Amino acid sequence: MMRDVIIVGSGPAGMGAALYGRRAGLDTLILDATGMPGGQITTTYEVDNYLGMPGINGFDMAMAFQEHVKKFGAQWESAKVREIEKKEDGFTVKAGDKEYRAKTVILAAGASHNKLMVEGEEELAGMGVSYCATCDGAFYRGKTTVVVGGGDVAIEDAIFLSRFCEKVYLVHRRDELRGAKILQDRLFELPNVEVIWDSVVERIAGSQAVEQIHLLNKKTGEKRVLSAQGIFIAVGIHPNTEVFRGLVEMDESGYIVAGEMGETSVPGIFVAGDTRTKELRQVITAVADGANAITSVQKYLLEKK
Ligand code: NDP
Repeated sequence: MMRDVIIVGSGPAGMGAALYGRRAGLDTLILDATGMPGGQITTTYEVDNYLGMPGINGFDMAMAFQEHVKKFGAQWESAKVREIEKKEDGFTVKAGDKEYRAKTVILAAGASHNKLMVEGEEELAGMGVSYCATCDGAFYRGKTTVVVGGGDVAIEDAIFLSRFCEKVYLVHRRDELRGAKILQDRLFELPNVEVIWDSVVERIAGSQAVEQIHLLNKKTGEKRVLSAQGIFIAVGIHPNTEVFRGLVEMDESGYIVAGEMGETSVPGIFVAGDTRTKELRQVITAVADGANAITSVQKYLLEKK
């Protein structure tokens, strides 16, 4: 069966594309790698900057998006894409144990958490080392936790954890946070959050679970050991584009090179959301990318006729 468009990824970009695809009357299939729609927002406690939904929980937002998309009749399958092949008449998308065919493809596979790459991180993953405060934070009621990073996610995580942890340390490698000013203001008001500046994690230690976080102050060379039961690593993201390597042009960080309309180096393949080269990776820009990518798909299909 030859579809009009296959959308790889079910985050805000993929779902935005699916909504616009169905409204444009395109035969639209979303391939969802995890069985859970929403991408990164499903692990975001609060999204406070999407128009009309102040303070919405990320999981609730994902469910609302999916309901909207399904209402318009987009087809949905849970299958992880293994390979995309360009053919004479379109594309073959190999996902899970199946093959799907489409005239166009939108790559909207999103991004994933970066790791610190320090001793103890992998060994103690799931035993106190976490990349998702909203998923695991509740296990640390009354405990001491450490958040690493200085972006929006790190600040939000520290604010979230401060609600039930006795003490939260925010460890940042510079003397200034990168995250939004409004979040910084909220953070600095919290009595049980201590920011440790200019410092990096050297080692995460513990026998069965996290017990100590070993820090190095990069300015003074001073070492410090924090006693903590949990560490939440929020040091940015990388695009989930490994499987598309060699298919479309990417920059040195693996982001697929494209402008606002999502046109990649290969005609018929479009990109939307965090996977694309862009300035601002937010839910609102991801959804907009999805709409733009469908406009490009329509144009491409018309020109092919
Ligand atoms: P960011 O890239 O914004 O921040 C990553 C942070 O981690 C930076 O402070 C960086 O330090 C630090 N860092 C990176 N590598 C290391 C390392 N190896 N060791 C120590 N620290 C490190 O990523 P986020 O995940 O915070 O956010 C991703 C995107 O999602 C952003 O665009 C953000 O705005 C957006 N977002 C928006 C939200 C909202 O609007 N509500 C909520 C959550 C995310 P340095 O500053 O020195 O570079």
